[in-house]
Amino acid sequence: MNTIIANEKIDDVKLAQARKIISGLYREMPEYIARGHGPFLAAIYDEKGNQIAKAANSVITDQCSNHHAEINAIYDAEKTLKTYDLSAHNLSLYITAEPCMMCVGAIMWSGIRAVYFGVPSNGVESITGFDEGFKQDWLNEFKQRGITVYGNIESDSGEKQLRDYMAQNRIVYAPKNNTHIDKKRIKP
Ligand SMILES: [Zn+2]
Repeated sequence: MNTIIANEKIDDVKLAQARKIISGLYREMPEYIARGHGPFLAAIYDEKGNQIAKAANSVITDQCSNHHAEINAIYDAEKTLKTYDLSAHNLSLYITAEPCMMCVGAIMWSGIRAVYFGVPSNGVESITGFDEGFKQDWLNEFKQRGITVYGNIESDSGEKQLRDYMAQNRIVYAPKNNTHIDKKRIKP
């Protein structure tokens, strides 16, 4: 069992719900990868457990560097609910991996109330070579902004999906001038 990271006292009901939803996202990942998507999925749920949005990373399929799963899901939720501020809807975001520095910003501006993620960034970077950016103390920063974060949820299963992505020789998209990640990546 992976040790859960959290910025509040762990609530077993919230954690059980997150385990269920994130495990479901891991199971769906292979079909998205087969269609050319990046290996990340995100879903947004309301407090009654209704799914408001679900999206995969579409950087490659859309040829757009900021189409991460979290951004796509937030975009869909805001479009569906016709608002740029989701806070009144008390929504939770479930992600197969820790949000990158861009998505940390996007989540903060969206009004999402809670974030649950699978594989931590250091795992993503060492398995795939994707650069997750720099995010100093973001769990504490989110806590101060009233956003709950739980992470490292069922991450063994998530790591397996990332290893499968790499085993299929899929694209690790990054700007060519970024050589920083090569230093972080653990070569298999
Ligand atoms: Zn991101």
